[in-house]
Amino acid sequence: MEVTNFMERVVERKLIEMLDQFPELCRCEECMADIKALALNHLTPHYVATEKGELYTKLDSVKVQSEVDVTRAIIEAIKIVEQKPHHHAEKK
Ligand SMILES: [Zn+2]
Repeated sequence: MEVTNFMERVVERKLIEMLDQFPELCRCEECMADIKALALNHLTPHYVATEKGELYTKLDSVKVQSEVDVTRAIIEAIKIVEQKPHHHAEKK
C-alpha cells in the first residue's frame, strides 16, 4: 500500500489539460513543478491509501474538491511562475 496526496494527481492532470490555454508558458521541468507546488499550497490535501495502479480508477470516481477551485489555484500559480520563473533566476 502507498499513501499519496490525491490532489497531486488531480492538479497534474488538470494542468496538462489547461496548458493549451497558455501557449506562452514555459514547459520546463522547474516551471511545471513550481506551478504544481504553488497550486497544491492553495488546495486542501487529500491523502489516500492505495495499491499501486489503483489510483487512476479512484481519480475518476471521487470528487475531492470542486473543479473550479482546482482551476483557479492553477491559474494563480501560472501567473506567479510566469512573472518569476525560477529557471531564469538560476541562470543569471
Ligand atoms: Zn521554465
